[in-house]
Amino acid sequence: MTQVVTVFGATGSIGRSTADLLAQHADRFRAGALVGGKDPVALAKVARELNASFAALADESAGPALAEALSGSGIPSGAGEAAVMEAAARDADIVVAAVSGAAGLKSTHAALRLGRKVALANKESLVCAGDAFMRDAARYGATILPMDSEHDALSQALAGRPLADVRTMMITASGGPFRTWTRERIAAASAAEAAAHPTWSMGMKINIDSASLMNKGLELIEAHHLFGIEPERLDVVVHPQSVIHGLVYWLDGAVTAELALPDMRVPISHCLGLGDRLTIERGRPLDLVTLGSLTFEAADEARFPCLRIARAALAAGGAAPTVMNAANEIAVAAFIAGRIGFYGISDLVERACTHFAGSYRTAPADVDEALAIDAHVRIWSAEALPELRAA
Ligand code: NDP
Ligand code: MG
Repeated sequence: MTQVVTVFGATGSIGRSTADLLAQHADRFRAGALVGGKDPVALAKVARELNASFAALADESAGPALAEALSGSGIPSGAGEAAVMEAAARDADIVVAAVSGAAGLKSTHAALRLGRKVALANKESLVCAGDAFMRDAARYGATILPMDSEHDALSQALAGRPLADVRTMMITASGGPFRTWTRERIAAASAAEAAAHPTWSMGMKINIDSASLMNKGLELIEAHHLFGIEPERLDVVVHPQSVIHGLVYWLDGAVTAELALPDMRVPISHCLGLGDRLTIERGRPLDLVTLGSLTFEAADEARFPCLRIARAALAAGGAAPTVMNAANEIAVAAFIAGRIGFYGISDLVERACTHFAGSYRTAPADVDEALAIDAHVRIWSAEALPELRAA
C-alpha cells in the first residue's frame, strides 16, 4: 500500500531531499499536501513533479501567483494560515515537518493532534515548546520520528533499549566553517562566510546556527525532549568529518554509534522507511579506507558562546529555551541582513535570556503559551538590536 506523505517546508533543503526520495520510491510513496513559505514558483514546481494532492503557501499574498503557477495541473492550492492548516488536516501516513524556525510549530502541532507519524526536522518546534509538544504527542497518539541526523543516529543506536541502560548520549558537531578561526577573525565574519558549511548542504538559518554552534545547543535541547534524557547525560563532541552522528554510551562501557556520509537523505529515508531500509540513488558509499581517519576535539565555548548559552537554557528549564530560540531567530536574521556582527548573535541571545530569566520560570503550559512568549521575546529582541549595534 502506498504511503501518503505530507511535507511542510517542501521547497527547502530538507523538503527537496524528501521530494527526491519520494520520486525515487514512487511505488511506495505518494505526495499528499505540500507546504511552502512564500515562493509560488518553487512550490508549484515540486507539486507538479510529485503530482501532489494539495499545495499551500504560508504567505497569503502569494495565493494568486501559486494558482497561476499550478494552472492546468489539476492540483488545488491555497495560501495563508487557513490553507496551511487545511494541508495539515489532509490525510497523510507520514508528515515531514521541515519548516525553518518556530514558524513551523503550529502546523507540526496540528499534525500531532491528529495522531500522525511526524518526521521531525524542525527542531525549533521542540526548543520553543518541548514539554507541551511531547505531552501532546503522547496524548493524541502521535509518533515522532527524529529526522535530524544526530537524533536519527541516537534512535538507531538506542534501538529501543531503556534509558536505564544508558550512561550518556553524545551528538557530534562538524565545528562549522569557523572551527579553526580565531575569535577576532570570527568577529569580522560575513554572512556568506558563516553560510559556507564544510560538510552539510542546508538552508541559510541552520547554516548560521551551525557556524555559531547554536545548532548543537538546539540539538541538545531536542535530544532532551525526544529521548527524555536529563541534560547532565547529554554531551557534544566536535568531529570535523561528520561521519559519526550520534553515540550511545552504555553502562558497561560499550558505545554504539551510527556512521554515514553527511547526506540528509540517509536520516530522511530512515524516517520514511518506518523500519524498512530504502536504497538511495546516487547515494555515496562510506569507504573507510579512502576516509582514512576520523578525528574528534572538544567544543570551544569561548569562541562559540551560543553553545554555552544553550546549555545554560537547557539546565535552567522553564521557558528559557523558548526565550533563547526566539532571540536567536531575530539575531540570525539581523546578522544575515548585515545589521549586527557575528558575536552580536550570542550577545543578543544572552541579553534576552538574562532579561526574561525572572519572567518565565515555568515551561509554557501549551503551544499557544509558547507562541505568545516567542512573539513577546521577538519584539523585545528587535527593539534591542540598535542598542546592541551601539554597544
Ligand atoms: P530551508 O530554509 O532550506 O527551508 C525552509 C522551508 O520552510 C522552505 O520550504 C520555506 O519556504 C518554508 N517556510 C518558511 N517559512 C514558512 C512558514 N511560515 N510556513 C510554512 N513554510 C515556511 O530550511 P532547511 O530545509 O535547511 O531546514 C528546515 C528545518 O529542518 C529547520 O528546522 C532545520 O533546523 C532542520 N534541519 C535541517 C537540516 C538540513 O540539512 N537542511 C538538517 C537537520 C535539521 P520558502 O522558501 O518559500 O520561504
Ligand atoms: Mg543536526
